Amino acid sequence: MAGDETSKPREKRKYEFSEHLQVVVGSEKKHFIVHKDVITCRSPFFAAASAERWNNSGDVKPIELPDEDPKIFSTYLQWLYHAEVVVEDKPNNEFSELIKAYIMADKFGDLTCANAIADEIIRSGIIHNCIPTVSDIHTAFEDTPDGSPLRKLLVDFWMFEADDEAFSTRSEFLPYTFLATFFRRHNEVQKGRLSQTVMQVYGASVSQQGKCAYHRHDASHPACGA
Ligand SMILES: [Zn+2]
Repeated sequence: MAGDETSKPREKRKYEFSEHLQVVVGSEKKHFIVHKDVITCRSPFFAAASAERWNNSGDVKPIELPDEDPKIFSTYLQWLYHAEVVVEDKPNNEFSELIKAYIMADKFGDLTCANAIADEIIRSGIIHNCIPTVSDIHTAFEDTPDGSPLRKLLVDFWMFEADDEAFSTRSEFLPYTFLATFFRRHNEVQKGRLSQTVMQVYGASVSQQGKCAYHRHDASHPACGA
């Protein structure tokens, strides 16, 4: 969150482009070649995996990610090399792909990427006027810990953007963890009534909550605008 992070600007870093990592992704074993320095600088997951490969054997074994989707890993590489979040160009699929990409970036420990994807989820939801599906929610809540900004974002989409029809037809299929987070968040909003009218509280939207409300920042990932 903004305000409780370091305000130090990011230190400049000179990359070394002579070493590569091979990453094998998915059950189909799709091979990717990535500059070692580029990915290990951004991802603690790959920094640890890379160190393990070098120390144990002397030669570099591929990093295997059999449970990941090569298509989503390509989205991560797009971010890594071009600082753009690009998923399948299908409006009804974009939301789900973004959620999967967020989960992958979060797993890799790349908070800058995860934060950028959170922004894209907000943009996509508002532009396409959609809320996360029950399937999206199950995916997100199975693969993220309690307190994850993604959980809060998906809950807020339902709290601020869902209509009565969504609640009456789909709420019984939502996971317990989602409903528990929903009621906790609802309680926070209710307490906000003290300083706002009911209309102001329920007239809010996800996009008005402030992007950093759905970001994670730490010493290595300074707050937006810092
Ligand atoms: Zn931020």
